[in-house]
Amino acid sequence: KELPADPETRNAVRQVEGALFSFVSPTPPAGMPYLVSYSSQVARLVGLDPTECERPEFPLLMSGAAPLPGSRSYAACYGGHQFGSWAGQLGDGRAITLGEVVNPVSGQRWELQLKGAGKTPYSRRADGRAVLRSSLREYVCSEAMAALGVPTTRALSLVGTGEPVLRDMFYNGNARWEPGAVVCRVAPSFVRFGSFQLPVSRGAGEVGLVKLAADWVVKYHYPELAASPQPYLALLREVVHRTGRLVADWQALGFVHGVLNTDNMSILGLTIDYGPFGFLDKFDPDWTPNLTDASGRRYSYRNQPEAVQFNLIMLANALLAADLVSREGAEETLGEYSKVLSETYNARMAAKLGLKEYDRALSHELMRLMYDDDADFTNTFRALCSVSSVEEEEEQQFQPDTSESVSRSGSGSVGLTAALSASLNGGQPLSSERLAAWRQWLQAYRAKLRAEGVPDSQRQAAQRAVCPKFIPRQHLLQWAIEAAEKGDYSELEALLEVLERPYDEQPDAPAKYSSPPPEEMVRPGVCMLSCSS
Ligand code: AMP
Ligand code: MG
Ligand code: MG
Repeated sequence: KELPADPETRNAVRQVEGALFSFVSPTPPAGMPYLVSYSSQVARLVGLDPTECERPEFPLLMSGAAPLPGSRSYAACYGGHQFGSWAGQLGDGRAITLGEVVNPVSGQRWELQLKGAGKTPYSRRADGRAVLRSSLREYVCSEAMAALGVPTTRALSLVGTGEPVLRDMFYNGNARWEPGAVVCRVAPSFVRFGSFQLPVSRGAGEVGLVKLAADWVVKYHYPELAASPQPYLALLREVVHRTGRLVADWQALGFVHGVLNTDNMSILGLTIDYGPFGFLDKFDPDWTPNLTDASGRRYSYRNQPEAVQFNLIMLANALLAADLVSREGAEETLGEYSKVLSETYNARMAAKLGLKEYDRALSHELMRLMYDDDADFTNTFRALCSVSSVEEEEEQQFQPDTSESVSRSGSGSVGLTAALSASLNGGQPLSSERLAAWRQWLQAYRAKLRAEGVPDSQRQAAQRAVCPKFIPRQHLLQWAIEAAEKGDYSELEALLEVLERPYDEQPDAPAKYSSPPPEEMVRPGVCMLSCSS
């Protein structure tokens, strides 16, 4: 039915032509696989009783050490634009799909994919393995994103392979052996924009594969579009809209993907491929977590909307080249991206400020203040959930975002003056002008709140439901990684538990989970990330 690629060559690294995937087998790791963590929620999604994840064979199955009965595993063939340039064949270089399961109750289809289970035809010069550090980051962040309400691929399990993997950590010449690991990623599908681009790049002989891929995606993942008079244009429109909303979600949460290449763009509008991602701590729109991108900042917070627009254009080009959409249709549909993105973003930002209507000036001025005073993005919004619309209560209500004030106060009732006077950045006290600037903004904000007239308690509750208190900050992940590398997974489990309810106050959660990074964790070299660890 679908086209397998020369199955007899299996895992041999090569250019795979005329196929959308290749049958491959995981390469059992050289060590003894062990369970680090599993997600009960994802287990249930795929129709698995969570206790199954505690059986001794589970880490063997989820590392590729033992074959999963009934599975015919494969790696996907795709290409991509990396940092704006066409990179040719990329493909699943270290991800192997075990197959798809249909949840017998929900009927939902789930693809299970092992990341780090060995070489595939697409491994190029790399080893097909993944390390505990980056696997833990992907595992935690996919689940945190799901809890935050952002469309994302999920993660069923994190297992150690027992096989050390050599990695050049920060391109500083210091290679180090790290524990190997495999994440079992789960999504309805992992098909990417690059899946449609590669056949087009190979000329007329492969263009039919674009249609094959599009038909497959529509059949299984957008069945409601099949009856549309122009199903491929309808598909493009749906992808454009979902992706626009996704980027709005990222911007509203301060999430920076870090590698928005077309091979890392999901055809289902999911956040996919957690590599050098990060959440803004202090607000800096030019920030990117990706060390490889530090000079260009192509994928900085500020640039994400445009980077994704480029990717959508590349997808549309592929559909156009395969004659599946018309130029006019594609252009019109692409034009909807900015509209969907800004409408969604404006709605998200309004909600974060507890407003019925987006107020551009007020939002921009807040960003300006946060930027000027190195305010913590997440905590500033969370603090604003406590602001009263009534003037007199000002001093009691607003607790801003300083690492000092947050950890000192714990419960969060620090007066405005005291809190803002505390160090916002490296112990610098806020000058009286800066304090006045924040006060002025708060006055305008309160006036707006009063004008809208929603009772404070109602507004604040709605606001807390969209301004998270807990996000997977780089340094929290780093702490969990350092402990896990020593065999202690308690930090990981504690972090996962807190991140499961990111919008709840969780008064018993230690302050470190909602505090900006301590100074020693933001120094260069501590949390720097590159693509392919
Ligand atoms: P990324 O930037 O993470 O999306 O990766 C780009 C490409 O490199 C994809 O085709 C990956 O499968 C591949 N890749 C990354 N790391 C490895 C690795 N350790 N072994 C094999 N392929 C890899
Ligand atoms: Mg990728
Ligand atoms: Mg990656």
